[in-house]
Amino acid sequence: MTTETSNVSPLAPEWLAVPEDLNVLQAPMWAAGVDRNADGEVAIDGVAVTQLKEQFGTPLFVMSETDFRLRARSFKDAFDAAFADICGGVDVYYAGKSFLCTAVAQWVTEEGLRLDTCSGGELAVAARAGVPGGNLSLHGNNKSDAEINRALDMLVGRIVVDSLDELERVARIASSRGETAKVMLRLTPGVHAHTHEFIATAHEDQKFGLSMAGDSTAQQGLSAAEEAVAAAASYPGIELLGLHCHIGSQIFEPDGFELAAQKLLGFQAAMQAKYSIVLPELDLGGGYGIAYTPVDTPRPPAEIADAMAAVVRSTCAELGIEPPRISIEPGRAIVGSTTFTLYEVGTRKTVRVDVESAAGDQENVTYPRRYVSVDGGMSDNARPVLYDADYSAILASRASVADPQLSRVVGKHCESGDIVVRDVYLPADVAAGDLLAVPGTGAYCWALSSNYNYLARPGVVAVRDGAARLIVRGETEEDLLNRDMGVANV
Ligand code: PLP
Repeated sequence: MTTETSNVSPLAPEWLAVPEDLNVLQAPMWAAGVDRNADGEVAIDGVAVTQLKEQFGTPLFVMSETDFRLRARSFKDAFDAAFADICGGVDVYYAGKSFLCTAVAQWVTEEGLRLDTCSGGELAVAARAGVPGGNLSLHGNNKSDAEINRALDMLVGRIVVDSLDELERVARIASSRGETAKVMLRLTPGVHAHTHEFIATAHEDQKFGLSMAGDSTAQQGLSAAEEAVAAAASYPGIELLGLHCHIGSQIFEPDGFELAAQKLLGFQAAMQAKYSIVLPELDLGGGYGIAYTPVDTPRPPAEIADAMAAVVRSTCAELGIEPPRISIEPGRAIVGSTTFTLYEVGTRKTVRVDVESAAGDQENVTYPRRYVSVDGGMSDNARPVLYDADYSAILASRASVADPQLSRVVGKHCESGDIVVRDVYLPADVAAGDLLAVPGTGAYCWALSSNYNYLARPGVVAVRDGAARLIVRGETEEDLLNRDMGVANV
């Protein structure tokens, strides 16, 4: 619960309330099993953060394996239940781009999900983890010949083709091997969703996918999507399984997914009528949102699944087509909230910021903003810099009764935009040596990490049944120097 108090800072964004108790972990942002222990420390499945720091150092990605498995399973169960009467269930492809290592690939498989990859490297992780080829899909807008060959070697269940050029390339490679590639076509339905809103446009101005707009190819009146369907049917090296779309990320409301499903099913029915091509599968992509801050309100998977199922059911009935087997590709919604990043506080400084008086005729008022520097930053979480993404943070190594103070958590990189959490109320007594935990860092943080300023990328620890184990070790200085060919490594 949060409430406005006299500690509220005019520098804070409107959505940020002063927490009633700074020690409380606000539920939707944290993995199951993360809480404060009797000593006031944040602990995950009974393992305290100071113990994790001692054993593995900081910064550190701390993931609940139990929570990951729960979220994976609950997506699968919710969509299976919602679509049972329509197409016998749903194939859930975990989007490996959000976070992938061999342990995660194995958990996904054990929980009955499939795995979506989008590069040769991600296929290599899947192969090492022993994921069956039939459970894999390969995405990407510019797959190399080597990646296409590798996918065919691994007998992947589907290659999601992104353009007319690529369709021809996959067909050629498969034919030259005397094989048939199982293919989905990625279409751009003109629906773009983000958080609570979506927009619908006729034309697409982006690198991904085949446009459904009527005049998007040299052939007048024919969309790239239609040209691809007709071409796919004519290539002996292609088995066209169906259509695919992905409308955006961090989406809370089902309406964007519903509109995209209607558009794709309408297109599918039109292709069936015109070319007698029956497509047995339809992938509606990923993008399901999570809570990064206390004001984010993601829906339970069942709510989204039921809404999407209702639209697929009624649209297929209206169009008079057999419902295709549905698949989805959630990444963030499975892994995002399973993980927090543990940082150690180094330096602090407070600046004074002028705020214009509301009346305009009075003098500006000055308010303090405190900067709290931690031992990581944009190299382990690029999302605030890339997308202006908001996060939250909590003092994790002890409880505090100090007053809330508006704080900006920043990294240690040589970049003034190196912000980890733009605005958060932290206890006023936060000091060097304290540990901060930033929740919701499971997706697109480790995956996007870099070695900027020659910082070693952090390790990832998985906690289950009270035991912590490294699933990806952190880099060492040796790792950083190994590829430098200037002065020979002895
Ligand atoms: N599928 C495709 C094609 C994507 O591009 C993405 C993310 O960019 C995803 C699935 C996963 O999205 P999310 O992690 O938001 O669920």
